[in-house]
Amino acid sequence: MDELDQQQLHREMTAWRRDLHTHPEFGFEEKRTAAFVAEKLRAFGLEVAEGVGGTGVVGTLTRGSGNRAIALRADMDALRIAEQGTQAWRSRTPGTMHACGHDGHTAMLLGAAKLLASEGGFDGTVRFIFQPAEEWGRGALAMLQDGLIERFPFEEIFGLHNMPGLPIGHFETRSGQVMSAEDNFEIVLKGLGGHAARPHAGRETLVAACALVVNLQTIVSRRLSPADIGVVSVTELITDGTRNALPGLARVLGDCRSFRPQVSAAIEAEMRRIAEGTAQAYNVAAEVTYTREFVPLINDAALVDEALAAARTVLADDAVGVAVEPMTASEDFARFLTEVPGCFVFMGNGNSAPLHNPAYDFNDAGLLHGARFHAAVVRRRLGVG
Ligand SMILES: [Zn+2]
Ligand SMILES: [Zn+2]
Repeated sequence: MDELDQQQLHREMTAWRRDLHTHPEFGFEEKRTAAFVAEKLRAFGLEVAEGVGGTGVVGTLTRGSGNRAIALRADMDALRIAEQGTQAWRSRTPGTMHACGHDGHTAMLLGAAKLLASEGGFDGTVRFIFQPAEEWGRGALAMLQDGLIERFPFEEIFGLHNMPGLPIGHFETRSGQVMSAEDNFEIVLKGLGGHAARPHAGRETLVAACALVVNLQTIVSRRLSPADIGVVSVTELITDGTRNALPGLARVLGDCRSFRPQVSAAIEAEMRRIAEGTAQAYNVAAEVTYTREFVPLINDAALVDEALAAARTVLADDAVGVAVEPMTASEDFARFLTEVPGCFVFMGNGNSAPLHNPAYDFNDAGLLHGARFHAAVVRRRLGVG
């Protein structure tokens, strides 16, 4: 096996990352990105399957005679955000940009594939999973429903996400609850619109909607146990009224976060009760639509220890830690963890703009750390003895 020139690999990953950044693609539209990934994996000598769950790509690398298999995962999709950056590699697609660093995640996993294909140092099979559509929580499920685990079996899975504010070269995670579930809701209030001067002649919905927005605040403050984490955010209130006409229809939309299915179920049940009761009090009707978008991300305790131990083989000891609090953001990697145990870690992106910000850019200084972390996890979990 040849030892790769690490600085050369870093330069290559930087070029890949910037190329991907220039050509961002929205979820399930990652055709160019998927072709880019597949072409590179084949060039490194991996077996490659394309079109898994839409635009997903799976690369397989086997060394030795071990029969264990583990998976490493990256996400490929961009966001519908107009980039404000001025760097030479800024997005050439108006209104779409890599504002979450998935270009970096993809480049690092490609780097790890090249590193492991060239150097080996493990015994078994590695699946390199490049998933589509992370941002709207559909890509992992699409790959699983397309037979991901049956066709490309693996026993455990590891993934990472860059974290603005955490120094370059620092890795953090925690066991158990890491990131929350996300549920969405829409409550439609239906009454009878009419002249703004004659409210008594109709059953307008705006005052009812305002009461409903206030009443929904009691779900977390009065109904959930203080020991449970929950968020209920009303984000939109839309009516069909105009300046001199009262609305007969009002839509209240929003987003909920939680870490346990029981809490998600309690939020939905309370919401339905409050919507119905408030509507009745204002003599209008309520229709509640409640959907579950992301499942909570729960790290396996033993594999967290393994991932941190692997990180310590390639990073300074004091740069690796169990420091993060549970986050009420959501991440599609969680869906894989409902099938196999695994661990999701955060790596420093330095002092960059926040994720999903139009000025955000992945920090290329972290690329080699990410690739070496992936490789270290493989060598630890599929040790040569
Ligand atoms: Zn994101
Ligand atoms: Zn992301």
